[in-house]
Amino acid sequence: MPRQAAGYWERTSVADCVFCRIASGEIPATLVHSDNQCVAFRDLNPQAPTHVLVIPREHITSVAVATPEQEPLLGHLVRIAADVARREGLEASGYRLVFNHGPDAGQSVFHIHLHLLGGRRFAWPPG
Ligand code: AMP
Repeated sequence: MPRQAAGYWERTSVADCVFCRIASGEIPATLVHSDNQCVAFRDLNPQAPTHVLVIPREHITSVAVATPEQEPLLGHLVRIAADVARREGLEASGYRLVFNHGPDAGQSVFHIHLHLLGGRRFAWPPG
């Protein structure tokens, strides 16, 4: 049984998860990558010229509840994000990869998603 601690982030089940519905093809999205473990698609409200979300097909609400068994899957998301960034021509200029968890980080969708942002300069530390 995966460790899924109860918490405010446990708001969505597979049935009402918008990202599960994108992964299954039920809701349209502009896909830039798809494989048996994850899909990547363009964010509806882009915060940079390239803004792609890489999500696991498996419904995991947050990095906060990911299990040791899910480590290879999380690593896969990072590697795919780097592949997409390369294809988007971002390798030389640079890009940012972000997982948000919880209210202070502004997580709004409770299905793990890795943001790939690029095509402009980003402040550090983030605002
Ligand atoms: P976060 O704030 O980290 O939870 O990010 C959620 C992201 O999902 C936001 O950047 C939204 O713009 C994006 N988003 C929400 N619904 C969709 C959708 N149907 N298609 C593409 N992006 C979406």
